[in-house]
Amino acid sequence: MKKRIIAGNWKMYKTSSEAKDLVHGILNGMKEMNLPADREVLVFPPVIHVKEVHEMAKGSKLSVGVQNMYFEAEGAFTGEVSPKMVKDAGAKYILIGHSERRHIFKESDELLNKKVKAAYDNDLIPMLCIGELLEEYEAGKTNEVCKKQLVEGLKDITADQAKKLTVAYEPVWAIGTGKVATPEIAESVQKYVRSVLADMFGQDIADLIPILYGGSAKPDNAAGLLSQPNVDGLLIGGACLKADSFLAIAKL
Ligand code: PEP
Repeated sequence: MKKRIIAGNWKMYKTSSEAKDLVHGILNGMKEMNLPADREVLVFPPVIHVKEVHEMAKGSKLSVGVQNMYFEAEGAFTGEVSPKMVKDAGAKYILIGHSERRHIFKESDELLNKKVKAAYDNDLIPMLCIGELLEEYEAGKTNEVCKKQLVEGLKDITADQAKKLTVAYEPVWAIGTGKVATPEIAESVQKYVRSVLADMFGQDIADLIPILYGGSAKPDNAAGLLSQPNVDGLLIGGACLKADSFLAIAKL
């Protein structure tokens, strides 16, 4: 069964006490909701809070992921965390290739591919983020950019591994800008993304892979996006930082 995933990327926000307040709010709200069995609610806190959020979420339906990790098992890599460490802290998912990692920290598709492989080697579910810049969108290169990011980011991944893959299409021009893609744009790109995944792994597996949309998703535009057949969930930045707005989307 393909899941609908509503995921919140906290980015570099929330102190420890703010993180606890937010998780309390989310957990209390979730208790009052009758979430359908196919729904997964997921948060990506800053890595320093992951263990605590995982402990708080035990016994609930809230899953936890990490926003970034290095691919090596251990070693002299100052400032990095390893796949084993994030697994040990309770992470189930790992966000790989968020546009801020690609464009601020200059992470290449080759590096991201190593992180995807490391995720599988450590029983973490990769959420590979892809998406085009504004100038690429305006030049009509969206599909070309997404295909390259998928093919290179998922190089040497087997069909069996792809059964656990999740993908987030996040047009860079829509992230944190308030300029959301229309449901029709999201659907058209995500349909294409699924066709690329079908070429790589077969249609049956591609049909199982949740493809999320991300970029200025909010309570007032989420239903339209989620009504599209190839929008299997949302990756939310700004609107996930308050329990009310995050839950308003999670319960749709
Ligand atoms: C994101 O950071 O992945 C994101 C989609 O942010 P926002 O919702 O704020 O555009």
